[in-house]
Amino acid sequence: KLIVFEGGEGSGKSTQLQRLYTWLRESPQLKQLQASGRVGGLMATREPGGTALGSQLRQLLLDHDSTAPIDSRTELLLYAADRAQHVAETLRPALEKGFWVLCDRYTDSTLAYQGYGRQLDRELIRELNQVATGGLESDLTLWLKVDAETGLSRLQQRQADRIEQSSLAFHQRVQAGFEVLALAHPQRIVTVDGSRSEAAVAVQIQSLIETQLLQ
Ligand code: C5P
Repeated sequence: KLIVFEGGEGSGKSTQLQRLYTWLRESPQLKQLQASGRVGGLMATREPGGTALGSQLRQLLLDHDSTAPIDSRTELLLYAADRAQHVAETLRPALEKGFWVLCDRYTDSTLAYQGYGRQLDRELIRELNQVATGGLESDLTLWLKVDAETGLSRLQQRQADRIEQSSLAFHQRVQAGFEVLALAHPQRIVTVDGSRSEAAVAVQIQSLIETQLLQ
C-alpha cells in the first residue's frame, strides 16, 4: 500500500508521517499481516529526495543560490525527474514486495505548488505526473489541512528563511489547490484537520488507517 502525506508549509505532515511509522511498527495487526506474508514490510520515504539522485535534486531545488532563481518550468521538471527516479528505484520495487510505504509528498504536491501556486498549466502537470509515475497512484492520501497563515507561523527560522521570498498569497493558492484536489478525489484523498494538537491529529490518522487499511 502507498500512503501519502500531503500539505502546505507547517502542516505537520512530516511529523505525522513519523508518528504513524512508529505506531505501525508496533501495531499487532501489521505484525500479524507481516507474519502471514500479506505485508512485506514498512518503509518511510519522501519527495523530493527519496533516492540518492533525488537528494541531489532536493538540494538543487531547495538550497539554490537565491540570486539565480530557478525558472518555474525548470523547477517543475526537476520535481518530475525526482519523482520518476523515486517511483522506479524505490516505490515500485517496495510495493511489488508488498511493503507499506509512507511517502511525504507525491503527485498532488506538484499540482498544488506548481499548478495552483505557480500557476503552470495543470493539464501539462497531470501528464508529467503520469509520465513520472507510470500511473502509480496512492492507495490513500492524507491531506493535512492548515490555513497558510497558521502553517507559516509554525515554521522554524531555518525554513522561514528559505521560503521568505514566496508570498502569503502563493501559499494561499497552494492551500486552495489542495482543497480543490481533495474535493475532486474524495475516495483517494482524506482531509485531516491539521490545526489541532499533534496528538489529536495522530489519533485520527491511526484510526483512519485502522478502519481503511488494517481490517
Ligand atoms: O515536504 P517539505 O516541506 O520537505 O518540502 C520542501 C519544500 O519543497 C516545501 O517547503 C515546498 O516549498 C517545496 N515544494 C515545492 N513544490 C513541490 C514540492 C515541494 O515547491 N512540488
